[in-house]
Amino acid sequence: MAKIIDGKAIAAEVISELKAETAKLASHGIVPGLAVVLVGEDPASQVYVASKEKTARELGFRSDKIVLPKDATQADLLRVVEDLNNDPGIHGILVQSPPPPQINEEAVILAIDPAKDVDCFHPFNVGKMLTGAHDGFHPCTPAGVMVLLERSGIDTAGKHAVVIGRSNIVGKPMAALLMQKGKNADATVTIVHSRTKNLAEHVARADIVVAAIGKPEFVRGDMVKEGAVVIDVGINRIADASTKSGTRLVGDCHYAECSAKASAITPVPGGVGPMTIAMLMRNTLAACRRAHGLA
Ligand code: NAD
Repeated sequence: MAKIIDGKAIAAEVISELKAETAKLASHGIVPGLAVVLVGEDPASQVYVASKEKTARELGFRSDKIVLPKDATQADLLRVVEDLNNDPGIHGILVQSPPPPQINEEAVILAIDPAKDVDCFHPFNVGKMLTGAHDGFHPCTPAGVMVLLERSGIDTAGKHAVVIGRSNIVGKPMAALLMQKGKNADATVTIVHSRTKNLAEHVARADIVVAAIGKPEFVRGDMVKEGAVVIDVGINRIADASTKSGTRLVGDCHYAECSAKASAITPVPGGVGPMTIAMLMRNTLAACRRAHGLA
């Protein structure tokens, strides 16, 4: 039976380390500031934003939430971003995705000062990540996976990692971080996606499987090599008449089947999810330190 990689506990550990660092900065009068911008009142986005705000406050950060009406224009949003770029008390800016259709998301990402781009969506930071520079940011979800692997004592060097999914937010940067030269990386990486032929054959050769597809329980036990490490990034809500709400959350991997084969596995919920927010806070703190010449 697989060891459960407890993302909730590891995220709590990271948060408590960040809290101590924040307290040290506060003794020098420095307070990290995170601004989250929302366009419209998408209920799922509201939930994510609320937990980001809660964690930021818990850490002692300044936490600003700016909500624009759902019919706000591109120019309205760009003005808000510009103000935040110019606000010395704000070190991290994120615009909650997905924005309504009148907004050109790419143009908004390009407008964010790369020094405040704590989501690591700006091409400047994506490029830095790819070249292995240490003065940019790493995108929160893949960075969270790397910390989970490291703190669970899972050696990635020379291991064959198969990343399922090639999104800009998860799959591509996940592969980039795993293949990076250096400690807690150095993996041999294969990316598979919706157009891959014989996907199951690739997955079967993986020492480490990272699933980021958005398809409930897509990875079945018979696809996974005995003893592989299974990292499930997926968050999918499915119908379940046995629960009070009538739904439950599942990952992109079939947990019962995969945990019977794997040596270690992340649960959903309580695996990768909590790490994403912890990494957002880590990036904001790093941005604040850099802004004060402390990096
Ligand atoms: P996405 O829809 O942008 O990308 C999905 C990727 O999966 C695509 O690259 C596509 O090629 C691939 N794919 C789709 N169907 C496939 C198939 N049948 N076979 C092989 N590949 C297939 O999704 P995303 O933003 O990368 O998110 C993936 C999942 O991770 C979602 O469930 C999402 O909710 C979850 N997620 C979780 C966190 C977290 O904090 N835990 C963060 C981001 C995303």
